[in-house]
Amino acid sequence: MSMISVKEALDAVENSPLQKIEEEQPLSSALLGNVLAQALISPFDLPHFDLSAMDGYAVKFGETDEFILLEKEITAGNGEEFILSPGEAVRIFTGAPCPASADAIVMQEQTEVVNDRLKVSVSIKSGQNIRRRGEEIKKGEKVLQKGQLLNPAALGLTANLGIDKLRVYRAPNCGVLTTGDELSSPGKELTPGKIYDSNSYLLEAFLSSQNIKNISKAHVPDDLALTKEKIGEALQKHDILLISGGISVGDYDFVKEALLDNGVEEIFHKVKQKPGKPLYFGRKDQKFVFGLPGNPASALSNAYLYVLPLLNRFKGREQLHLERSKKRSQSDFQKKPGRSQFLKAKFSGQEVNILEGQGSAMLQSFAESNALVFLPEESTGINKGDTVEAIDLRSGNIQ
Ligand code: AMP
Ligand code: MG
Repeated sequence: MSMISVKEALDAVENSPLQKIEEEQPLSSALLGNVLAQALISPFDLPHFDLSAMDGYAVKFGETDEFILLEKEITAGNGEEFILSPGEAVRIFTGAPCPASADAIVMQEQTEVVNDRLKVSVSIKSGQNIRRRGEEIKKGEKVLQKGQLLNPAALGLTANLGIDKLRVYRAPNCGVLTTGDELSSPGKELTPGKIYDSNSYLLEAFLSSQNIKNISKAHVPDDLALTKEKIGEALQKHDILLISGGISVGDYDFVKEALLDNGVEEIFHKVKQKPGKPLYFGRKDQKFVFGLPGNPASALSNAYLYVLPLLNRFKGREQLHLERSKKRSQSDFQKKPGRSQFLKAKFSGQEVNILEGQGSAMLQSFAESNALVFLPEESTGINKGDTVEAIDLRSGNIQ
């Protein structure tokens, strides 16, 4: 297949048939950012019973606007039945059950107690300050829609309804496989010709930032047989496999052949973009593989642009991509037409600066950036003051 455009590559990631996986999870903050695979129906009325919205007095209207104050108190959590007779008032607190016989609740600031009498300084409206049973939610009402993103409020609401399990779309199991004879682990002494492995950390961190848990990592040297074997193993365990390096056309790039041998079907290979041209995307049944270029900035750029929307599809999220907005460039940048370019950049308000150090291997500018500026294939560059499209790298957070 010949090189495709960024748009075609994104279309493939967005539209390749994918079966979301549902699972039931106990209610906990671990569900934050998950998407509901079920609608949530209220099992009862909320509030469950009439209750007081104020600290004050429950009153039953009598002949006069003075009430006989009973000695009792009704506190929150009190489950006793209590009957008020006409002309009587009783101390009540916020959240306490309101006696069925009460006409209203008067806030304490509007009252005066003299001996066993309660005087009220304002006129009392029937039903005031009583939160009625079912006034917020009725039994059987749909309170959360299928597809709802679970935020703190949705989790609190679920708990409020006494529900302790939710069906959500399961986040995909992800694995990271690094390739390359040259890689050594940070912390070890570097021997001649070796470099430290950056991608397994960078890709694991990227996945973690997307709330992916239990990421497994493996490494394989530049050897076809071993690469085949490791890919085979990884495909057993994961829904999405990220492979770093070995996907270009060098004599020691074995990933493509190893994938083919494992029955992985190519969806695309090579995208008209910079950085990250050698990007590969393939599938085997319901499992997906990204072959990411070994150069760290290319791998990360591709992760934000292509891996992220696939993760979001598995998770059932509607918003697949990072947010894009128009910004005014504070920098000039020259470019040859033919490939789209994603530039490490930093925005503040409406302005964006393109950073120094755009090389595919350069992470320092990436570490400093909060955006990627997108220049389309045909663009020959930009001048200071031009409007550009900036992709907000912080917009992909869990919430
Ligand atoms: P490759 O895509 O395997 O041809 O690798 C392209 C470049 O990225 C080479 O300079 C590799 O040494 C480098 N590279 C590959 N894998 C990693 C990694 N995990 N961490 C840092 N650099 C890497
Ligand atoms: Mg390599």
